[in-house]
Amino acid sequence: MDEAHFQLIKAAALILSFALVFVAQTLTPYRRAARLVTRSWRQNVPLSVLNTIVMSLVCGACMCTAARYSVSRGLGLFPRFGAPPWVATAGTILALDLVLWGWHLANHRLAWLWRFHRVHHSDVDFDITTSLRFHTGELLLSLPLRLATVFLLGAPLAGILVFEIVFGLFNMFVHGNIRMPSLVESRLSAVFILPAVHRLHHSVRPDQHGRNFGTVLSVWDRWFGTWTPGRSTELVTTGLPDLIGQDRLPLWRCLSLPFERQATGPASE
Ligand SMILES: [Zn+2]
Ligand SMILES: [Zn+2]
Repeated sequence: MDEAHFQLIKAAALILSFALVFVAQTLTPYRRAARLVTRSWRQNVPLSVLNTIVMSLVCGACMCTAARYSVSRGLGLFPRFGAPPWVATAGTILALDLVLWGWHLANHRLAWLWRFHRVHHSDVDFDITTSLRFHTGELLLSLPLRLATVFLLGAPLAGILVFEIVFGLFNMFVHGNIRMPSLVESRLSAVFILPAVHRLHHSVRPDQHGRNFGTVLSVWDRWFGTWTPGRSTELVTTGLPDLIGQDRLPLWRCLSLPFERQATGPASE
């Protein structure tokens, strides 16, 4: 598989994921008063377009290129220890989810990273378009970590592609304005992050805010002591405490937020 096919499959999967989550949040909304998408799409969608352009210019399909390079030269842990393809693929998916859990935690613990990540948390709404709301700086800063993981593991292309598709789907799903039945929620959250769980992570309440850093699997938060169960029946107010009272930030404020004087430091438990 070359870079063009990698990008094409990823783009098709993201469009399909968006459609699925959009239908889900329309059929079973958590906040019934919310429209099909909240008004924050006016900032979130343009931010996402900007990020897509910048990341395409800087990286393109560089994860794909890195995987092809390392596997063809036998670099990294999986080729070195002769891991069977299914072990290398599953290991890549698990390792990348864990690395991005750690990256998310670091974004909340380190003041200079929090400056960028707080743009994601500054959304007073919480719906599918919140999954598109990231400062370009945060995405650029995460790139070396992702590439280093691919080189270190000698990650196979199949593992990276499956991970990117699953991660993209879950990123949209966990931000969905979705209400789930309690029984389904309690069963599924034993393994996966669900919208009610990630909604707590976006809460204005500091005790809920510094929890639940996962995107796909809930096991990392459970193992490392940052897990708090969430239920669709709970009423959660989302946003940043120091921005309460300010209406939805315009696009230029979303971009300038990391460089402003901060009212609060990074979130903590
Ligand atoms: Zn966060
Ligand atoms: Zn989020």
